[in-house]
Amino acid sequence: MRTKIKQILHAKDPSSLIGKTVSVYGWIRTVRAQKTFAFIELNDGTTLANLQILADPSTIDFTQLTTGASLLAKGTLVESPGKNQALELKAETLSVLGPCSAETFPLQKKRHSFEFLRTIAHLRPRTNTQGAVLRIRSALALATHLFFNQRGFYYVQTPIITGSDCEGGGEMFRVTTLDKETDPSKDFFGKPAYLTVSGQLEGEILALALSDIYTFGPTFRAENSNTSRHLAEFWMIEPEMAFADLKDDMECAESYLKFCVKYVLEHCQEDLQFFDKFIENGLLTRLQHVAASPFAHLTYTHAVDILKKCGKTFEFPVEWGTDLQSEHERYLAEEHCKKPVILTDYPAAIKSFYMRGNDDGKTVAAMDVLVPKIGEIIGGSQREERLDILEQKIAEFGLNRDDYWWYLQLREYGSVPHAGFGLGFERLVLFTTGMENIRDVIPFPRYPGHAEF
Ligand code: ATP
Ligand code: MN
Repeated sequence: MRTKIKQILHAKDPSSLIGKTVSVYGWIRTVRAQKTFAFIELNDGTTLANLQILADPSTIDFTQLTTGASLLAKGTLVESPGKNQALELKAETLSVLGPCSAETFPLQKKRHSFEFLRTIAHLRPRTNTQGAVLRIRSALALATHLFFNQRGFYYVQTPIITGSDCEGGGEMFRVTTLDKETDPSKDFFGKPAYLTVSGQLEGEILALALSDIYTFGPTFRAENSNTSRHLAEFWMIEPEMAFADLKDDMECAESYLKFCVKYVLEHCQEDLQFFDKFIENGLLTRLQHVAASPFAHLTYTHAVDILKKCGKTFEFPVEWGTDLQSEHERYLAEEHCKKPVILTDYPAAIKSFYMRGNDDGKTVAAMDVLVPKIGEIIGGSQREERLDILEQKIAEFGLNRDDYWWYLQLREYGSVPHAGFGLGFERLVLFTTGMENIRDVIPFPRYPGHAEF
C-alpha cells in the first residue's frame, strides 16, 4: 500500500502512526549526509511540507540520491525529534525509481524567477509555489461547485465551439478545417466558427428553463493584451438566475466570493501560510477581512466623481462615459474603499447590448466587482428581457438581428427578468494566493507567442 505524505504529515492523531510500516513515494528535494545519518527530504506534491527520511548512510549508494530523483522509501514511522514535524520515516530500504542528473536538472535548490519557471512548465509543478497554487486551484473549483450546488443551481455545459460572437466584438479565435479555401460555407460547420468568449448567451437559454444554472469552462480571447491579468485561454464561471434582478445578482456574487475565501481559509491553511510568508505579507489578514466585512457599493457615476477629485494622476484620464482602466479600478478598491467594491449602473455605450436599460435612458443595470490588487474580478448584469428594447439595442449596436434570432425568441416566448455574471477563475486564484501574474496561476498559460506544452 502506498501512503501519501499528506496522510502522514496531516494525520489527526500522529501518535497513532508511530511504529507503522509504510511505503512512501516521492521526489527528492534535498539530501544531507552526515557520518552516522543521512537525511532525505521527500515531497510527493500532496502537501507543501516534505517528509523527512532518516537513512543509514552505510546502506545506500548516494550517487543516485540526487535532487529531483524519484524514490520509494519503505520503513517505520517514528516520532521526530525536530520541531517542524511530528513524524519522520526511518528507512529500511530505499529504491530510486527514476534517477535525475544533478548536473542538468533545471530545478536546482535555489529560488528561480517565475519568468524562468514558465519556460519549464513541465517541471515547475514540482516547486513549492506551483504545488501550492495547484492545490488552491483545486480547492477553489470544489468550493465553486459546493456553493452553487448548495444554492440549488444546476451545473450546465455550454459550447466551446460557437457560431455566434457573444458581444459583437472581435478578438475571437477562428476554428476551421480549411487550408486555403476562404469560402466559409465550405468550412466544417458551413459557416464561420469560433472558440467561445463566453457561455452567457447559451447560459441564458438554460436558465430560462431550469431557473438557476452555472457554467464552469474554458474561455478564449485573442486580445493582444500582454498584461498580468489576461490570458488567451482562461476558465470562467458564469451563473445565470431567472426571476432575478441586479440586487440578486450582487448578493450572489458577494456570497460566492466570500464562500470561496472562507473555504480556502478553512481547508488550505498550510498553503496560505506559505503565500503569506513568501508571496504577499498580510495575505491571511486580507482574506479574513474579505470574508468578514460587507463589500462597498458605488455607482459608476459616483466612482467617476471620486476618481476625478482624488488628486491622483492616472495614466489614462477619467471622463463620464469612458471605460475604467485597471488603475482606476484598483484605486477604488485599494485606496478609496480598502476592500472589494461593487460598481453599478454603467453608461450603456460602454457595456454589452444585452444589459438591461435603466429608466434614465443612459445607464444599464450592470455590476462589476473590483478587488484590491487586481481590479475587475467579476462582471455581470441584469439582462434586457423586453423584446422591443432588445431589438432596438441590437440595431443601435450595429449587430445583425438574424444572428440573434434564438436569443430574441427567448424574449418572445415566456420572457422573464434574469441576471448573471462571469468570474475569471484565474483572477480568483490571484486574489486568494496573492500571486502577481496570471501566467503563474494556471499550469499551462496561453498568451501571445506562447502555446508550448
Ligand atoms: P477586462 O476589462 O479586465 O479585460 P472584461 O470586462 O473584458 O475584463 P468580461 O467580459 O466582463 O471581462 O469577463 C468576465 C470576467 O472574466 C472578468 O471579470 C475577468 O474576471 C475574466 N476575464 C476576462 N478576460 C480575461 C482574460 N483575458 N484572462 C483572464 N480572465 C479574464
Ligand atoms: Mn467586464
